Amino acid sequence: MKLVFATNNRHKLKELQAILGNCFELLSLQDIGCFDDIPEEQLTLEGNAQQKAFYVFEKFGFACFADDTGLEIEALNGEPGVYSARYAGENKSSEANMDKVLKKMEKIHQRNARFRTVISLVINNKEKQFEGTVEGEILREKRGSSGFGYDPIFRPKGFNLTFAEMELYEKNKISHRGMAIRKLVQYLKKSVQD
Ligand code: IMP
Repeated sequence: MKLVFATNNRHKLKELQAILGNCFELLSLQDIGCFDDIPEEQLTLEGNAQQKAFYVFEKFGFACFADDTGLEIEALNGEPGVYSARYAGENKSSEANMDKVLKKMEKIHQRNARFRTVISLVINNKEKQFEGTVEGEILREKRGSSGFGYDPIFRPKGFNLTFAEMELYEKNKISHRGMAIRKLVQYLKKSVQD
């Protein structure tokens, strides 16, 4: 089955193809000739994922899913949350975003945080959402060089390594996106059987 993943983020495509295996042929936005800057104007992860998936479905007619992820830090009242990509400014620099978090949390001892992913799947104009979360804490400095985004400052609960110090397959086993994607795949496989 052909499925469009509404992203051009090559890290995410790689992560996802590894989880999906051969069951589904994953197409990127580039693969379907979509070079639009898809709007993400909502105030929630749920709203943004939905907006992106419907945009592709309505304009290109493909079964499609879109995700939206945020890092939610308890002591910062859920920041950066839906603003995770642009936390330190419009150029979406991961280094600047992490520096901003580290600075804001310099004097804060309570360092609990979670990554939360919402996936919106749109097939035949019908939507279904899936959520994945991973709990952890924000370190006081960056560690590791794999992954992307806030990975170097996030250590998942029960592990000594940050996401950026883990192999991709290790991260996928426990990550927010991994969890949401497995729920999506389970649903897709079941709907193919029914
Ligand atoms: P998006 O909605 O998936 O594009 O994620 C928004 C922002 O959250 C990204 O630009 C990253 O800064 C951050 N982010 C999303 N997923 C991850 C992850 O797996 N590790 C670290 N940061 C992430």
